[in-house]
Amino acid sequence: MAVMDNKKADATQESLHRIFTVPEAPESTLGQIEKEISENLNVFLQTHIAAREKPLVEIEKDFQSADIPEAPSFVSEHTHFLLNKLVAQSVNTSAPTFIGHMTSALPYFLMPLSKIMIALNQNLVKIETSKAFTPLERQVLGMLHNLIYHQPESFYQQWMHSANHSLGAFCSGGTIANITALWVARNNALKPQGDFKGVAQEGLFKAIKHYGYDDLAVLVSERGHYSLKKAADVLGIGRNCLVPIETDGNNRVKVAAMREKLETLKQQNIKVFAIVGVAGTTETGSIDPLNELADLAQEYGCHFHVDAAWGGATLMSNKYRPLLAGAERADSVTIDAHKQLYIPMGAGMVIFKDPTLMTAIEHHAEYILRKGSKDLGSHTLEGSRSGMAMLLYASLNIISRPGYEMLINNSIEKARYFAGRINAHPDFELVTEPELCLLTYRYVPARTQYALQFATNTERDILLDDLNDLTKFIQKRQRESGKSFVSRTRLTPEKWGRKLTTVLRVVLANPLTTEDILNHVLEEQETIARQSLISYPKISQLTESILNRTAVKQ
Ligand SMILES: *Cc1c(COP(=O)(O)O)cnc(C)c1O
Repeated sequence: MAVMDNKKADATQESLHRIFTVPEAPESTLGQIEKEISENLNVFLQTHIAAREKPLVEIEKDFQSADIPEAPSFVSEHTHFLLNKLVAQSVNTSAPTFIGHMTSALPYFLMPLSKIMIALNQNLVKIETSKAFTPLERQVLGMLHNLIYHQPESFYQQWMHSANHSLGAFCSGGTIANITALWVARNNALKPQGDFKGVAQEGLFKAIKHYGYDDLAVLVSERGHYSLKKAADVLGIGRNCLVPIETDGNNRVKVAAMREKLETLKQQNIKVFAIVGVAGTTETGSIDPLNELADLAQEYGCHFHVDAAWGGATLMSNKYRPLLAGAERADSVTIDAHKQLYIPMGAGMVIFKDPTLMTAIEHHAEYILRKGSKDLGSHTLEGSRSGMAMLLYASLNIISRPGYEMLINNSIEKARYFAGRINAHPDFELVTEPELCLLTYRYVPARTQYALQFATNTERDILLDDLNDLTKFIQKRQRESGKSFVSRTRLTPEKWGRKLTTVLRVVLANPLTTEDILNHVLEEQETIARQSLISYPKISQLTESILNRTAVKQ
């Protein structure tokens, strides 16, 4: 090209027209990228994502200008920039050594299918812009409903494609799903009655006055996801009215404490319109006793929502499905397809047991979403939405339920294997057992583990502080060295007097993660820990002084 040294194209009608109509040539930069990706995605990611981390302040320098360019770039030039500055400094979430988050590898067939989805650019808000995508999405919602609630086929024949009804909503993620569930719960609790036209029409202030409540509340375990706080905020009840309930030694909500809170709030004339059970907490993967929560919800007349954004996929496994027993009694369930159903980011769902529940948030407009139309937009918080359901539909067909079962079972069993390794290692301590494929642990030298049993409260607190710093250091150093990644969080184990304890957190959802990799991860952490213990002298000093004292006493 003659203008190569100029590096800028011209903004002409012709070049604009070309952008919309002419594909990039196979030998162009974009063409090359497509070829590399389709030949071997993993090699592509390994080649283009830099192994060593650049500090964020450095990266920010490449994204400084707030000017929208006055001259267009050539596609190839710009693609080079993206490869060097963006892709190179992104995170290889599909690496089998990346075991710290809920985002993992994707099945390969989803790449070309995503391209079809983007090429078609359907808008699921209404049939006029989505046609067959609407029945497809309704079927996907029906399949997930069936996975949770197992209704007879006649139920799905009656409701799945019924105008004016919805078995749920497909949305961008668990956050929107949780907001939608509580929105439905709130509107049903404050529904129209006599002259009062309902909270949706008249607002919270008049609704509370009409019903004569002093306030509203939602109850959830203290390990509930922060999206529920956002929900409480946008629904107008306020974050303080999302009431956290204490958990037991296994990070499951204490049902007795929840009952007590329900009783207290009832005495105070505060209407609890929903209780939320968590089926797979984000930090520890723990599952609340769903059946007992269902009983409570029934007794106190509140909506029962189960947040199974992460753990819901376990229902695919006949072997481990019983872990979520009681989910089928929920009025609504959140499931993220972009977590353990291996769909790209932007795929969440909320499913409602009763097909009429969502009427409480129904919205109609004249030019679209007319009454009696099958438009999905009349029951969704979001407006324009992509055809993402197609990717889940394809995966449900291509992987199938037994395929998903294998993925889920392997993940859970891998987590159990890793927990076994941690338990067997004298210098590591398992903090939470894996109920699903998530576990937390930390490095504590064997002698210190022993000394902690005899420590005074003051000694224990000093040790815990330094162990927290050490855990944080191990996690950061391992991430920076670029070979593997686990995450960290802070818990309040009963064992340590509910003191904030920093732990390493591992999520084993990537099917490519092997036992060998797990052993390497642990070895690397051990090496880092041993090398850095001298920077935390109090750990060994205090350990020895406690052990000397107890030795004298014995
Ligand atoms: C991930 C998660 C959410 C939030 O989902 P997003 O898709 O990130 O919006 C909510 N609840 C739980 C339990 C989760 O694990």
